[in-house]
Amino acid sequence: MNKLRLWSAEPYTEDFDLDAFNAGDYARANKFRSDVEAISTILYPNDAGEHGRMLRLKQEYLFVSAGLQTILRTYEREFGPDWEHLGEHVCIHTNDTHPAMCGPELMRILVDEKGVDFDLAYKVAKETISFTNHTVMPEALEKWPINTFRNLLPRLYMFIDEVDRRYRESLANHLSPNEGNWTNVLSKTAILWDGQVRMANLSIIFSHSINGVSALHTQILKDSVFHEFYEMMPHRFNNKTNGVTHRRFLCEANPSYAKLITEAIGDGWMDDANELEKLVPFEQDASFLEGMEAAKKADKERLAAFIKETSGVELDTNMVFDVQVKRFHAYKRQLLNVFKVLDVYNRMLKDPNYSPRPTAFIFSGKAAQSYTFAKEVIRLINSVADVINNDERVNDKIKVAFVPNFAVSNAQLIYSAAEISEQISVAGAEASGTSNMKLMMNAAITLGTLDGANIEISELVGPENIKIFGLRADEVEALRASGRYYAWDMYNGDRDRLGSIVDMLTDGTLARLSGNFESIHDYLMVDNDPDLVLRDFHSYVQAWDELTGFYGDRAAWNKAALHNTAKAGYFSSDRTIREYMNDIWHI
Ligand SMILES: *Cc1c(COP(=O)(O)O)cnc(C)c1O
Repeated sequence: MNKLRLWSAEPYTEDFDLDAFNAGDYARANKFRSDVEAISTILYPNDAGEHGRMLRLKQEYLFVSAGLQTILRTYEREFGPDWEHLGEHVCIHTNDTHPAMCGPELMRILVDEKGVDFDLAYKVAKETISFTNHTVMPEALEKWPINTFRNLLPRLYMFIDEVDRRYRESLANHLSPNEGNWTNVLSKTAILWDGQVRMANLSIIFSHSINGVSALHTQILKDSVFHEFYEMMPHRFNNKTNGVTHRRFLCEANPSYAKLITEAIGDGWMDDANELEKLVPFEQDASFLEGMEAAKKADKERLAAFIKETSGVELDTNMVFDVQVKRFHAYKRQLLNVFKVLDVYNRMLKDPNYSPRPTAFIFSGKAAQSYTFAKEVIRLINSVADVINNDERVNDKIKVAFVPNFAVSNAQLIYSAAEISEQISVAGAEASGTSNMKLMMNAAITLGTLDGANIEISELVGPENIKIFGLRADEVEALRASGRYYAWDMYNGDRDRLGSIVDMLTDGTLARLSGNFESIHDYLMVDNDPDLVLRDFHSYVQAWDELTGFYGDRAAWNKAALHNTAKAGYFSSDRTIREYMNDIWHI
């Protein structure tokens, strides 16, 4: 059992401005206290403005220092001042770059407060600390202006500066200075560069282990994001494919299905998710598959009632529940899904012979406060829902629902009721994904690109139990590198279906609720479709047509759906945590 500590900031000495108080200026009198308390009031304060960013830096330092001081106090109580062996008894895992100051702060405490020699302190810090990277999005690789950093944390900065100096010196020994790539390696790997402190490089230089969160993501770290580090220190890199807790996302989220599983194979799977494999023989058991379909139907009724209550949309539970639920981000391509919905809609209006599988398109997710594009996509989904749900020509066949407040408790209702799991990020962008795993456990069939952990899902279930479409990561990279991708070529190549959807963004069709979508139009046609929505459109719609066609064979669908649950044991976080224990923490 581990302790989870939630730190909060409060003033150490009462810096109370009595004069201001007596003059009736109570706000100023309490300013010091409220400034300090602001540090821990909100996690991830808005980092758009300089003021908010400074608060974030203070917050990161507070959490790092408080955690380290507690760890060292506990260690000293048990082992005395035996700092040389800290790494044999203590593991500090830095989850993303947010706690990147752990390395220098640990050194600062050891050198300044415990009298440890500089070289030994660096060695101990590296033996103690490990690092997981969670995303390849460039805006998430945190950087701080050196001046901001040094003004707030002058002593910590001295340690960073000296470690960076020694790192550069070691590089000069490692690579011969007349090798042409010396400056290139330095420009990619140094901590201090271009007036900035680069937190990812700081994390790597202070860690004995660096891991990504899916096989593809770790490969991308080695091949490009941290390639120069990988060349110098290949043994430090390793993969730990993410997992999710099946006791929450299957047992608790889906009690009717969990009961069915336990009746079939006993309850050992709750402790050992690999036992879900015992479901494979039941793929031939017609009565089990019928029970499974009945459980799914009940879960769909439960979700439909929740959606009616929260967003007013009424869903027919005979429809396929097609679900995309995750944070809103351009690379996750909720926009591609919207294009598919509009294409189905347009085809129904144009072609009286076209009859799609009746489908409820369900979206949910949050967007960061200052992420305008993501919020525009949410507005677009609500506008499309308004148009389609109020069009009597189509709404016995298709419905659209945006479920507000995507929190885990609401999400559980969605995971259990889903039949199609939309995992459609542009290949190479999604580090792992985890809703893909939660939905797979709950017997949804994945419609996805070969990205993140979708690749491992695909290898586990086999091509007949997943629907893959779109460019692969290497094809995306090659297309971008060629400089020969033109959104307007996509538009002109299919004026009829694709072009007409692009036009709908600005021609008033979707404007009834709250106006047109000029900025989304610009993102596609002026910024040249950075996430290749238009490029993958046809492949995606065709894959959806085929997958929903397959839904008609209920027995075959249920068999494939059950196979997804049977192979989901690998994605239990029990397996992931065990791998961290064995390979990184050695506990
Ligand atoms: C699983 C989950 C996520 C992450 O979903 P991805 O598809 O991996 O991005 C986000 N929010 C909630 C509430 C979740 O349950």
